[in-house]
Amino acid sequence: SQPLLDEGDDEAKAVGYHADASKVDAKKFPKYAKGQTCANCQLYAADGGKPSGGCALFYGKDVLAKGWCNAWEKKV
Ligand code: SF4
Repeated sequence: SQPLLDEGDDEAKAVGYHADASKVDAKKFPKYAKGQTCANCQLYAADGGKPSGGCALFYGKDVLAKGWCNAWEKKV
């Protein structure tokens, strides 16, 4: 595992990363739909059963499985 991405970081803010998907304001982030989380995003790399894992967008940082950002893509 790697250090956790902070939602206050510029690179996080640039894509509207939230550490907790349930706190996303759907008015501010109209792409968000309930049920979307990093855990079910195509760009997420799970780390066993850990609560965080890698994201293709963020080199050297982990994101929370329960997080979300505007680049969310349905896992195929
Ligand atoms: Fe999470 Fe996917 Fe956004 Fe990465 S691209 S932060 S895994 S929602």
